[in-house]
Amino acid sequence: MENTIERIYSDAMDALAAATDSDSINQLSIQYLGRKGRITHFLRNISRLPVEQRPQAGKRANEIKRLLEEKFDHALASLSEKTKPVADRIDVSLPGLAMDIGACHPITQITNRICNIFSQMGFDVVQGPEVETDYYNFEALNIPKNHPARDMQDTFYMSENVVLRTHTSPTQPRVMEKRQPPVRIIAPGKVYRCDSDLTHTPMFHQVEGLLVDRYVSFSDLKGVLTAFIHQMFDDQTTLRFRPSFFPFTEPSAEVDIRCVICRGKGCRVCSRTGWIEILGSGMVHPAVLENVEYDTSRYTGFAFGMGVERIAMLKFGIDDIRRYFDNDSRFLSQF
Ligand SMILES: [Zn+2]
Repeated sequence: MENTIERIYSDAMDALAAATDSDSINQLSIQYLGRKGRITHFLRNISRLPVEQRPQAGKRANEIKRLLEEKFDHALASLSEKTKPVADRIDVSLPGLAMDIGACHPITQITNRICNIFSQMGFDVVQGPEVETDYYNFEALNIPKNHPARDMQDTFYMSENVVLRTHTSPTQPRVMEKRQPPVRIIAPGKVYRCDSDLTHTPMFHQVEGLLVDRYVSFSDLKGVLTAFIHQMFDDQTTLRFRPSFFPFTEPSAEVDIRCVICRGKGCRVCSRTGWIEILGSGMVHPAVLENVEYDTSRYTGFAFGMGVERIAMLKFGIDDIRRYFDNDSRFLSQF
């Protein structure tokens, strides 16, 4: 008997699933819930059940009766909705679904800005591979086998001769091998080092610049970088060049700018010095030019590289580099 009421229910549901118009649904309603319907018949005959089964069977039959009433009503309602003209089905006065509008990541914004400034000065934007050979990442750039930059602590090695590039500089020999001077390129991209703390992430972004031509001098380098800094920050921003060392430039200089936060008075960002280191630069080492078979008696050049996060930090006033990569949209949507 229990089985019978469940059976009636499943028959009704099968029939309802097959019903395609309101006539057949109304027909089903009569067939199951009408005065001579199967449910009504079941309830009427409940007294024939053993006494102890009656309360449970009656309760279940009434539940199923209510359930079927609902299902039939719902089927009729959705059927009439479907047959209405489109204009009646859509309420144009309802508020629309709000769409979240995406935006460029702050690092992308700064990278684009840097590339735009150099593009206006005639530099081509080029890209290089992130998985790089030992040769382009080190050897071609005059970084000998025993140089500290090759230390396992700094470099992610994929295999003995393949690394995740530690800087964007490998783009220099890659481009120079294919082009004859004049070469004027800017190469943005991701770089990788085994390092992680408040001011370092294992992946970060650099922009590399290279210019090789006849009669290129250090004063050209100063002029280009000064023009860049003035456009990136403002024309009140002063620069200073500090002697430094890089294997692939000679002479080399680190470039500091007058702290854009305190204007040189000294603050936490500039460690009270009034100056902030912003990029590395120098005249391309003759060995690098010789590696790509440029005539060093004819051509000279300059190169520079900067960390995008560092510039973004100064532009946006963010001092924890990791925030850029936490993917917290509350942080990212501020830019
Ligand atoms: Zn400062």
